[in-house]
Amino acid sequence: MQLDVRTIICLIALSSLMTGLAMFLVAGSFPEQVQGIRRWAWACLVHSLGWSLIALRGAIPDALSIVAANTLIAAATIANFQALLDFLHLRFSPRPFYAFLLVMAAALAFWTFEAPNMSARIVLMSGISAIFLGLCGTRLLFPRGRIEWPEGLTQRTMILGFWGCSLAAAVRTWHTLTQAPSQNLFDFNWVEGLFYGGIFIQILMLTFGFLLMCNEQIIGEWKRLATIDLLTGIWNRAAIEKSGNHTFEQAKRSGAPLSILLGDIDYFKSINDTLGHEGGDRALQLVVNTLQRFLRGGDIMGRFGGEEFLFIAPDTAAPDAMQLAERLRLAVSQTPLENTGGAMSLTVSFGVAQLGDADENLSALIRRADAALYRAKAEGRNRVVLSESPTPNPQNAAPLPLGRAI
Ligand code: GH3
Ligand code: MG
Ligand code: MG
Repeated sequence: MQLDVRTIICLIALSSLMTGLAMFLVAGSFPEQVQGIRRWAWACLVHSLGWSLIALRGAIPDALSIVAANTLIAAATIANFQALLDFLHLRFSPRPFYAFLLVMAAALAFWTFEAPNMSARIVLMSGISAIFLGLCGTRLLFPRGRIEWPEGLTQRTMILGFWGCSLAAAVRTWHTLTQAPSQNLFDFNWVEGLFYGGIFIQILMLTFGFLLMCNEQIIGEWKRLATIDLLTGIWNRAAIEKSGNHTFEQAKRSGAPLSILLGDIDYFKSINDTLGHEGGDRALQLVVNTLQRFLRGGDIMGRFGGEEFLFIAPDTAAPDAMQLAERLRLAVSQTPLENTGGAMSLTVSFGVAQLGDADENLSALIRRADAALYRAKAEGRNRVVLSESPTPNPQNAAPLPLGRAI
């Protein structure tokens, strides 16, 4: 069976049109931070127009079916590249590319009307496709100048897809340079089959792949938002508890020491009363920034409640944990909150607890740190109190009810 090249080109034009329109339809449902979808959709429409003009070769003037058509296809391929940079939140300066398209159109006109040469035109067009598709794959792998191997399967497949299409275009370039190709665009041979197959993949697979990548980006963002406290940027309670439970189980199994620190800003209500809620928020951010400076590899910190922070320190016994809490306490007390009316000093009280045999779960350990914190408050605040290790007691194993205010 002989494949008909003009039919394949018509199918490419039609599928570009359909995928472009479909992308416009879904573009509105993506949040703003997912970028590049509309530009990719435009690229599909421009591809469609370019390939439609090519399919009409012989029936319309060459200026349209050769010069305009190929310039449109090159512009669409560059727009694909630009959409990908948008997606990666990277800058793109279009001016050199406009100039490049003008020069390319002039070269196409020259090889169409002045010195007709179909091989030269094929080399030019396939070469451009090979370069830009290859660049797309490469930028996905090296978005910021060094390899960032993507986590998502879609993005990895897209890298291979871009490079595969680039290779197909490169083979066509090389074949045209080394062989004397047929002077009829619609003659079918294996190189043309490979090339048009590459275009099909580019239009259909890469477009769906691009949409899937956008989906992956939103899912990743949702996952991040579900674990982050938006005000301070550190983990929220659910995330610190989840990670803390894991660290707790590891320490239980290995017998390695584990300590936790529960910190609570002193007289926070009066900070809110004096500076307003916005000033209170700034105080929270300042305290978190100060505490974060003391995080060591393996330590984790999260916002446990309104102005309470849970610090989990693996491989740390009580004496070191007390020293750490004392350093944290001192650092906060020496970092005043700057205001228009002058600086305001902040202090934090800490309850510290080291994992003991009687602590059956993280909640039990937190409960002990909370009791120590309560004592720190009762003894005057701006201090660190260590929880005594309890004797084993089955009641300690009861999990902390979710949402209980500590
Ligand atoms: P203590 O020294 O005993 O800890 O007294 P306190 O005033 O710090 O303690 P309390 O727990 O009574 O007050 C906590 C306040 O924190 C009450 C609440 O309005 C405020 N708060 C909780 N979350 C936020 C927040 O995200 N931003 C701001 N600005 N305030 C918050
Ligand atoms: Mg407080
Ligand atoms: Mg509190």
